[in-house]
Amino acid sequence: MKIPERIVIGGYEISIERVRSNTLPQKGAWALWFHRIQINVDDTTEDAQAETLLHEIIEAINDFGQLDLRHPQIKVLSTLLFATICQNKLTFLKDEQWVKAVSVGAAAQGGGEGEC
Ligand SMILES: [Zn+2]
Repeated sequence: MKIPERIVIGGYEISIERVRSNTLPQKGAWALWFHRIQINVDDTTEDAQAETLLHEIIEAINDFGQLDLRHPQIKVLSTLLFATICQNKLTFLKDEQWVKAVSVGAAAQGGGEGEC
């Protein structure tokens, strides 16, 4: 999966920064005030980065939705949700959307099938 530079969560535009471990010692971080997700790209596979992105998205939803989930709950949610998406090769895109995404390069580096 290619990590996008920005995404929208609940109407909020979120920037995604790929950072080195000397900037961010943990796998990822969510900063509510800056509407920013940081993903540590040192010594991690693309799949691990994608799983970290999903985790940070759930952290953001937890804040925006005032869900008050504790971190262990977020960890279980992100781990099992990522595994479910990968093991079942779920894309949530209609075929024509997938073709369009690949043709403009959004998913070209990630491929799709067999990933995760
Ligand atoms: Zn976390």
